[in-house]
Amino acid sequence: MIVLQTKQLIKIYGGKKDVNSTRALNGVDMRIENGEFVGVMGPSGSGKTTLLNILGGIDKPTSGFVKIMDKNIEALSKDELAIFRRKKLGFVFQEFNLMDSLTLKENVMLPMILNKNKPDIMEAKAKEIMEFFEIYDICDKYPYNVSGGQQQRVAASRALVNDPDIILADEPTGNLDSKSSNNVMKCLEKMNEERNSTILMVTHDPFAASFCKRIIFIKDGNINMEIARKGDRKEFFDRI
Ligand code: ADP
Ligand code: MG
Repeated sequence: MIVLQTKQLIKIYGGKKDVNSTRALNGVDMRIENGEFVGVMGPSGSGKTTLLNILGGIDKPTSGFVKIMDKNIEALSKDELAIFRRKKLGFVFQEFNLMDSLTLKENVMLPMILNKNKPDIMEAKAKEIMEFFEIYDICDKYPYNVSGGQQQRVAASRALVNDPDIILADEPTGNLDSKSSNNVMKCLEKMNEERNSTILMVTHDPFAASFCKRIIFIKDGNINMEIARKGDRKEFFDRI
């Protein structure tokens, strides 16, 4: 089953006729199947964040389309898109984007609160997902009282709590030390392997990328090369 598909995605910042315009994406075609764990790598300025923002409905392409689970997201109205993003997509960013005034558990429950789920269901789901990420014992703490790696696992829990069709992650280890990066990547890997979550992760870090099963390299706004993992993570790391 294809979860995500793009056709000839083009993004020009500043308008087509503007002499100062930037062609950030130059006709990207990609497809992601259910249960894949795909990395997107490329030099700074190659269009990775632009691509992820368009896939997540945060930004609009100049032309081309994005289909997620048979829904053409450009065709959605602003309100439909907001609901679609909340119910179908999970986001993990370099900045953890946690709310300082909420406990870790409340942060995880936030998407469900917006969806008006019942309190006992929210409690049960938050508990289940936080146990999965081994952070339930600290669930009543506040973000500023836990480590960066723990904060990122809270962000991952929040991204997963609504059972999204796809998780979109932009440099999720960008602000973490190597020990925390390892820990967060193992969590994403576990999500993919044990829950069959479909993940698309942008990273420039070969270590983080080595946890993926397939890597798309982009250069100057287009797909340049693709490699798939065959052996163990170390072998993949060396190839990357
Ligand atoms: P990456 O995430 O791979 O570093 P980006 O997607 O952020 O790359 O940027 C791709 C290109 O688009 C770069 O040349 C960048 O300067 C340009 N760009 C990104 N965002 C904007 C914007 N909001 N306005 C104008 N140009 C932008
Ligand atoms: Mg970027």
